[in-house]
Amino acid sequence: MNNSEIAAKGAAYVMNTYNRLPLAFEKGEGSWLWDADGNRYLDFLSGLAVNCLGYNHPVLVKAIAEQAEKVMHTSNLYWIKQQVEIAEILVKQSGLGKAFFCNSGAEANEAAIKLARKYARSKMGEGKYEIITFSNSFHGRTLATVTATGQTKYQKGFDPLPRGFGYAVFNDLEDLKSKINANTCAVMLEPIQGEGGINAALPEFLNGVKDLCRDKGLLLIFDEVQCGIGRTGKMFAYQNYGIQPDILTLAKSLAGGFPIGAMLASDEVATGFGPGDHASTFGGNQLACSTALAVINYILDNSIMEHVLDMGNYLKEKFGQLRGKYPFIRDIKGMGLMIGIEVETDGNKVVEECLKEGLIINCVGGRVLRMLPPYIITREEADLAVGILDGVFAKIQACSQYPQ
Ligand SMILES: *Cc1c(COP(=O)(O)O)cnc(C)c1O
Repeated sequence: MNNSEIAAKGAAYVMNTYNRLPLAFEKGEGSWLWDADGNRYLDFLSGLAVNCLGYNHPVLVKAIAEQAEKVMHTSNLYWIKQQVEIAEILVKQSGLGKAFFCNSGAEANEAAIKLARKYARSKMGEGKYEIITFSNSFHGRTLATVTATGQTKYQKGFDPLPRGFGYAVFNDLEDLKSKINANTCAVMLEPIQGEGGINAALPEFLNGVKDLCRDKGLLLIFDEVQCGIGRTGKMFAYQNYGIQPDILTLAKSLAGGFPIGAMLASDEVATGFGPGDHASTFGGNQLACSTALAVINYILDNSIMEHVLDMGNYLKEKFGQLRGKYPFIRDIKGMGLMIGIEVETDGNKVVEECLKEGLIINCVGGRVLRMLPPYIITREEADLAVGILDGVFAKIQACSQYPQ
């Protein structure tokens, strides 16, 4: 089947929940993808911050093949060695105490919400259940996590939504203070908002949130489903701020393309869960965890985070030069290889034009071009992407209302 045949069959048989571009990828290698018509693309999106080591990485392929030959899955009624090993690494890297495994970001956040409520009920009092989240946040699509998500467009039509969530304006400490009440038990945020437009928490804001949580006895939950696992040049984005959460969630990059989610908590907060309180049939099985182990060990053993930082700084410098050239570029945002270019033009049009030129990027909120390239991109690949964007911007400038 070629691209248009797959798209036509998809429209007939697959539920219409995505605004899909009319092509399908069949093969990947490094930072490159090939579609069903044989066209080649440089991938600056990594399957939405997932394929952090690119495609067909030999270390991942080997880990999956070897584990599949031994045992893929046993239930959590028994210990799983690979789960224990990845838990140890994540605990040591994060400074937290215990890990729980599931299969996605939304599930990791569900686990965080349940743990926060359960811990708060038993240790802080019956009335403590409310979790405050922020404007432009994204925490997932299950009923609880879509309610936690501070964007009404994702919630419309799904009410009644679960109770027990409050909302404050991101990067506005005074607003957060005004929203905390007798029922509040936790504050949940992405240190760098992804879907909301690559918005980093201001250091003074995040420090203020930490102090506020400590003073009021509230749990601090960081959703690092998108920004975690080396994406910002540190294993966890909060390490750029020197602020430790009580609960941390991970997913996207954790196993480089294999589905997995994780929720970590301090030893104290982890006591909120006992046997029977939470579970996941697939969560943390041998195949998922050996893949995650291969990813994390590769990142740690090969100075990958230094490379992320180098490439991120290089790209930001180059995008800064484009900003000087095109007045419709408003801002360059982000950390490491989580980069946003805010434009005052139709961002979706830029995405389409880039795709035609063989570059995969994405647009959030209509105005922020989001780039989440694999950690292994080379300087030549970075130059190629900048060149394509330069060409697309030039084309847009030529037919836009912004004269040079
Ligand atoms: C993608 C994302 C989620 C949801 O993850 P899924 O695996 O799609 O359920 C949650 N939080 C953040 C910050 C995300 O970027």
